[in-house]
Amino acid sequence: MNAAPATPSRDNAPGRVWLITGASSGFGRSIAAAALAAGDTVVATARRPEALDDLVSAHPDRAVAVRLDVTDTARIADVVADAVLWYGRIDVVVNNAGMGLVGAVEETSDRELRDLMDLHFFGPAALVRAVLPHMRRNGSGAVVQMSSMGGRFTFPGVGGYSATKFALEGLSEALAAEVAPHGIKVLIVEPGSFRTGFAGGALRQSAPLDAYADSVGPVRAGLPDSDGKQEGDPDRAAAAILTALAADDTPLRLPLGDDATDAVLGALDAARTEVLAWEKVSRSTGFDD
Ligand code: NDP
Repeated sequence: MNAAPATPSRDNAPGRVWLITGASSGFGRSIAAAALAAGDTVVATARRPEALDDLVSAHPDRAVAVRLDVTDTARIADVVADAVLWYGRIDVVVNNAGMGLVGAVEETSDRELRDLMDLHFFGPAALVRAVLPHMRRNGSGAVVQMSSMGGRFTFPGVGGYSATKFALEGLSEALAAEVAPHGIKVLIVEPGSFRTGFAGGALRQSAPLDAYADSVGPVRAGLPDSDGKQEGDPDRAAAAILTALAADDTPLRLPLGDDATDAVLGALDAARTEVLAWEKVSRSTGFDD
């Protein structure tokens, strides 16, 4: 059992009840703050819940910080059970916790790949499994999956990172169709470069090989260089997410930022052009009978 909120308000929690992972910084913190500003109730989970003391003390009746490492999948069900015990329901779950990893495919170790899959895929999948019974019972809810523009296309140096986000997007696309009849929305968010902790101290780099200095070297240097200078504002991202969730026609995927929007449009055009260029060969593989 987690430490109960100061004033739990079972069955009459104000607004919607959110459960957010990785809420100690960046997007997670901005989304928590935006939900609280909108009058909602927030279960903000983090590896360091004390980083949320200011938000919780400003809204003791509507905010609680809970310790959760999302790779500890055994604990996820307990956290969800506590949230439902305290507030009666979970309306919005945000799978946000994550980190960057730079390395060519050959440079990236099995351990690094598995650790990132735990963080970006198996943890989020476990959280979705834990909340869905409650959302289905209520006949409503929303699942927000923080992916990346790197969840739609990729480039040298981010194959491992993209693999985890592609996996999350594949799971989420099927999930969206499965839970829509139960009144539950799925929103996959695809940010470009945003000014969070992502490119700073939290960024992981695989051990480099000289063979990839030309292709991956610029990404190794460029990402940390961008820290603190990225164009994207996480508070505006949070506002965009709330806008998309409030819409009747919430999109399945929402790129965020000029960079993500341009790059996703470019990737879609390139994918269509390639399918059309090879269409004859693609259609040549059936039996004649
Ligand atoms: P931040 O580094 O600011 O925030 C990441 C958050 O994830 C932190 O709160 C961190 O906690 C938490 N976290 C990391 N590992 C775990 C774990 N095992 N269990 C629980 N929490 C964990 O970066 P962002 O806000 O940018 O990252 C949020 C999401 O956005 C990620 O999924 C990332 O992939 C995605 N994203 C970010 C982009 C960007 O440019 N910023 C672009 C595209 C996608 P702690 O403080 O304990 O380290």
